[in-house]
Amino acid sequence: MAEKRYIRWFEEIRKEDIPLVGGKGANLGELTNGGIRVPPGFCVTAQAYSDFIKERNLDKQILEEVKQLDMENNAQLQSTSALIRELILQTDILKSIEAEIREAYATFQHSLQQDDLFVAVRSSATAEDLPEASFAGQQDTYLEIKGISEVIRHVKKCWASLWTARAIYYREKQHFSHFDVSLCAVVQKMVNSKKAGVLFTANPVTENHNQMMINASWGLGESVVSGMVSPDEYIVDKKNNRVVEKHIATKNFLVVKNEKAVGTSKVAVKEFLGEDLVTQQCLTATEICQLSANALRIEKMYQSPQDIEWAIDGDTNDLYILQARPITTLKKEETDVVEQVEIKRLALLRGLAASPGTGSGKVRKIKDITEISKVEEGDILVTIMTNPDMMPAMKKAAAVVTNEGGRTCHAAIVSREFGIPCIVGSNNATEVLKEGMEVTVDATRGVVYQGILEEPAEINKEINQTPPGIDQMHLHQLAPISGTKVYMNLGEPDLITKYKDLPFDGIGLMRTEFIFTHLVGAHPMYLLRNGEEKQFIDKMAEGITKVAQDVYPKPVVVRLSDFRSNEFRGLKGGEEVEPIEANPMIGWRGVSRYISPEYEEGFRLECRAIKKVREEYGLVNVWTMLPFVRTTWEVKRVKEIMAEEGLKQDQQFKIWIMAEVPSVIFEAEEFAEMVDGFSIGSNDLTQLVLGSDRDSGILNTMGYFDERNPAVKKAIKMLIQGAHKHNKSVSICGQGPSLYPEFTEFLIHEGIDSVSVNPDTVAGTRRLVASVEQRMILNKLREL
Ligand code: PEP
Ligand code: MG
Repeated sequence: MAEKRYIRWFEEIRKEDIPLVGGKGANLGELTNGGIRVPPGFCVTAQAYSDFIKERNLDKQILEEVKQLDMENNAQLQSTSALIRELILQTDILKSIEAEIREAYATFQHSLQQDDLFVAVRSSATAEDLPEASFAGQQDTYLEIKGISEVIRHVKKCWASLWTARAIYYREKQHFSHFDVSLCAVVQKMVNSKKAGVLFTANPVTENHNQMMINASWGLGESVVSGMVSPDEYIVDKKNNRVVEKHIATKNFLVVKNEKAVGTSKVAVKEFLGEDLVTQQCLTATEICQLSANALRIEKMYQSPQDIEWAIDGDTNDLYILQARPITTLKKEETDVVEQVEIKRLALLRGLAASPGTGSGKVRKIKDITEISKVEEGDILVTIMTNPDMMPAMKKAAAVVTNEGGRTCHAAIVSREFGIPCIVGSNNATEVLKEGMEVTVDATRGVVYQGILEEPAEINKEINQTPPGIDQMHLHQLAPISGTKVYMNLGEPDLITKYKDLPFDGIGLMRTEFIFTHLVGAHPMYLLRNGEEKQFIDKMAEGITKVAQDVYPKPVVVRLSDFRSNEFRGLKGGEEVEPIEANPMIGWRGVSRYISPEYEEGFRLECRAIKKVREEYGLVNVWTMLPFVRTTWEVKRVKEIMAEEGLKQDQQFKIWIMAEVPSVIFEAEEFAEMVDGFSIGSNDLTQLVLGSDRDSGILNTMGYFDERNPAVKKAIKMLIQGAHKHNKSVSICGQGPSLYPEFTEFLIHEGIDSVSVNPDTVAGTRRLVASVEQRMILNKLREL
C-alpha cells in the first residue's frame, strides 16, 4: 500500500503528536516507546476525520445546520445535534480511509495470530488543552469490538461524539471554529482482564505525594471507573512499596465480554466467579509490587502525579497499562509530614444514590416522630428508614441518608420531589455517622465524605442539563413537542408553585398521602368516629384544588389513598382503627381497603373531596386513579361506590387504574373494558414481578430490583398491547423513567401514551421523548 495517511501504530507515536492522534493516543504512544507494557494498537488519525468531513461535504451541510440554529433554543439544539450525529453515522467513510483501517486491522490479527481479535475503540481529542468534557464531546470508549465492520462503525461513533448538543453550544459560545477541533480513534487490543482498576501515584484523599492509592476489582476496569462497584483500596508507601492501609470491599458485580453480542455485560461475581470472590482480596502482594513499580516509572516519565488505568490479563497474568494522565485536582507537592496533610476526601460510607445533588452539614440521627425536632435547617438527616411522619424534618435537611431502602422507597420518592440529596440502602449509616459529625453527602455518586467539603462534587444529571441562560419559564416555551405526553408526579400540593412552569402536559400522579399526613393529619375513620369528617373533605379538597387550579386546564390524575396499614397507623387515631399486618406491602392497601366495611366510609370521604373540587370549584380537569388493583370484581364494586358518591365515569370524568399487580397485566383486556386508562406503577410492578421487596436495601444493592429487567419489560409490553386493543391509554408513574433514560426509550418504542416523571426530570424527559420519536420517524422514512 502507498504511504500511510490515516493510521499510526503506537510505536510510531510520541507525546508531541497530540495534533495527529489526540491526547490519549499520544500518551499511549509515549508509554509504549518508554517500555511500559501497553496493549498494542493503532490510531485512526485526526486527519481521517478531517478528510472524511471535507471530502464528503459534511462541513458545508453541518455548518448550514448550525448557522440556522438558535443557540438558546434547547429543543433545536438537541435535534440539530442528533441530526448531525446521525449524518456522520450514515455517511460512508472514504475508500482510502477504509482501506487503511482494513489493512491495519488485518495486520493486527495476523501479528497477534488472532482471527477473533477483540479491540477497544476509544476517542482521543486534539484539543486537550481545552476542557475535555464540554469541548470534545463524550470521549467515548467502546469495549470488546470484533470484526472490521464493527471497528469502522465504532470509529464513526467516536467522530460523531464531537457533535453533542453541549459540545456545539460550548464551541459557539467560546467563538471556537467547529472544525478546529478534531478527533482521533484509538483501536487497541482488548486485555482479557481478570482484575483491573485505577492507580493514583499520589493519595487523592489526603493529597500525600508519598503514597499511592490502588483501586481494584474483578473483570474489566469499567466496573471501577464507572463506580458500579466499591473496589478494594490499597494505600502504598512509595518509598518501600509497603501497603500501609487496605480496605477490602464487597464486590458484587463485574463487567465481562458479552458472549452473545458486541460489547460488555454486567454479571454477578457470585454467579460468575463464585461466592468467595465477592469479599476476597483482589490483588496479591506481588501484583501490588508490580503495579507500584510500573506506576513509579510512569510518574517519572511524565514528571508529575498520574492517574493510571491498569488491567491484569487472565491468560498470561501480565500487567497492562491502559492509560495514564495527570491528576489535575492535586495541590502542589507536600513534604513528608503526613500529619500536616489536609484531609480532603475521606469516604465514610456508600449507598444508593436516590436523589441527586450534594449537601453538607451536621449529622442528626432520628428514630421516629418523637425526635424530628432535633433536625435543624441544613442538618444531615440520618435514619434507618424515613416514614411520612418525618417529612417536616426532611424538608429542613441539607441531605438525607438511610440504612435501608431502594430507589423507590419513601425517602427516595420524597427527596426527589423536594430536590433534597438522598442516599438510601447504606446499611449502617446510623452506626458509622456519629451525632453532630460534619459530613458532605454526594448523593449523585452515593458517597458520604468526612467534613464539609468546599467544592462538593458537581451534580451530574446529563439528561437534565439545561444549557446556561435558560430558566424554567424559558424551558416551557422551548420544550419540544412530542407525541407521547410528558406528565409530572407530585405529592406535596404547595410544590406546584415551584414547578408549574416546567414543560409538562399534566399531573400524571398526584399522590394524596402527603395531604393525609400534612393537611388532614388524622385517620379518616377516626375523624368519622368523632364527627369531624367535614374537616377531612375540606382539607383534601383544598390540597387538590391548589394543584388543579395552577395547572388548569391540564389534567390532574389524583390517586386515591394508597397508604399501607403500617403507614395509616402513623396518622392520628390510626392505632385505634388499623390492624397490624405481617406484610403490609402486599396487604390491605388500595382498592381492597376501599370496598371493605372497615374503610368504605373513609373512602367515601375521599370521593366527596373529589366531587367537591370538580363541582364546587369547577375543576373538571381532576380525574382519579385507583391504586393496587388486583381483580376485576373489586373494580366493579369500587366504581359502584364512586357512582353512588356522584363520581360516575363518563367523557368528562376519567377513572384510571394503576397496573402494579401482575394480575392486571394478565387480564389487561378485561380491565380495559372497565376503565379509561392504566398507569404503570413500576415500583410495585417490579417488586411483584421479580418478587423483590422494593424497600430492601440488600436486594437493591445486589441489583435484583430493576425496572429494566426483561420480565418487567415483557409485562409492560403485554399491558400496552392489551390496553390498545380496547383503545385505552397507558401511562407510567413509577420511578423507572425518572431514573433510566433507556427505560423511557423502551416505553416510547412500545407505544406508551404518556410518561409521568419526577419534577427534576420533566425537562430532560421531554427532550429525550422528542428525540426518540424523531429518530423513530427518521428510521421509518429510511425504510420507505
Ligand atoms: C408505583 O408503585 O410505581 C407507584 C407510582 O406508586 P407508589 O410508589 O406510591 O407505590
Ligand atoms: Mg405503587
